[in-house]
Amino acid sequence: MSATSESSAVSSSRVVEHPGHGESFTEHMISIDWTEGRGWSEARMTPLQELSVHPGMIGLHYGQVAYEGLKAHRRTDGSMGVWRPRDHALRFQRSCRRLAMPELPVETFVAAVDQLVLADESSLSGDPSHSIYLRPIMFGTDTSLMLRRSRNYRFLLMAFVAGGFFGDGIESVSVYASHTYSRAFPGGTGDVKIAGNYAPSFLAQREAEAAGCQQVLWLDAVERRYLEEMGGMNIFLVRGHGPQAQVVTPRLTGTLLPGITRDTILTLAERLGHQPVEERISLEQWRTECERGVMSEAFACGTAAVVTPVCTVVDRGTTWTIGDGKPGPVTLALRTALTDLHHGSAPDPDGWLHSP
Ligand code: PLP
Repeated sequence: MSATSESSAVSSSRVVEHPGHGESFTEHMISIDWTEGRGWSEARMTPLQELSVHPGMIGLHYGQVAYEGLKAHRRTDGSMGVWRPRDHALRFQRSCRRLAMPELPVETFVAAVDQLVLADESSLSGDPSHSIYLRPIMFGTDTSLMLRRSRNYRFLLMAFVAGGFFGDGIESVSVYASHTYSRAFPGGTGDVKIAGNYAPSFLAQREAEAAGCQQVLWLDAVERRYLEEMGGMNIFLVRGHGPQAQVVTPRLTGTLLPGITRDTILTLAERLGHQPVEERISLEQWRTECERGVMSEAFACGTAAVVTPVCTVVDRGTTWTIGDGKPGPVTLALRTALTDLHHGSAPDPDGWLHSP
């Protein structure tokens, strides 16, 4: 059945002081198998280990791989809080469904997250900008090069200690509108979180970096005009100033990921007295509104990016600055509202922060 087996433990360490992003793994992992006819196995927690896979494993060749990314934070009272795990579990189910894979029950997903967070929370220092980033992933494990879906799967949950995605502090980033490549198209997989969406974005990301930008800004694939999202985060624009400002984000069209942070920001914007708006907005319109001083701020948001101000846009050789090029007040207020919720230091009427 399964083509995977554990071998030697991968080194990891306790209390990570300078985590960076993505490489300071915690000590444990959880594995669950799904076998045709038998369904889900019990969850097994082991030390973080390398896998040994058959070179003909379906997931490796045909990309039957779905994943998630969610975070656990230390609350101000010292206990751990996991951010919206049920919503991540539901999105994971949707991603798996899209790849004709079995759907892990929400309760099993959340129980695995709770178990790993409690086992590995000692890796997290007291620095409030650090968190435990949890990475659930599932892939087809059949050994077969027949072009078909796998009949057996493995779910893994691992974690790393995360610092800032763009470094420490609240730096503004610049974005590069890609006119050469498309990330997603109608009927495709842009609205789910699968490995196959990411590898094709790396070339565009390299182009963005060559143009001096930190992130690609994806446009719709049909007209190549409308803003969609960024490499691993959603985008928001602020129209107007002060309490009356609108907090605007591209409408969900089936070609961008419905970010859980995006959903949170729409709620928080309203709570702060702003008007949340989901609209189809073109690059051209954004630029014109920036030039007229109507669009005053922009930011990226996501589990990894939290809320990161966007200051500059590069579009086919022209560059424009948003507002005064510095993080704006609406962006910073939303960031604070979000991180206060993460740390359990603000009222949480939606019950988003889950206790493991
Ligand atoms: N868009 C893409 C392509 C992503 O990979 C992510 C990260 O998961 C996001 C947006 C933001 O989603 P979330 O806020 O759920 O992390």
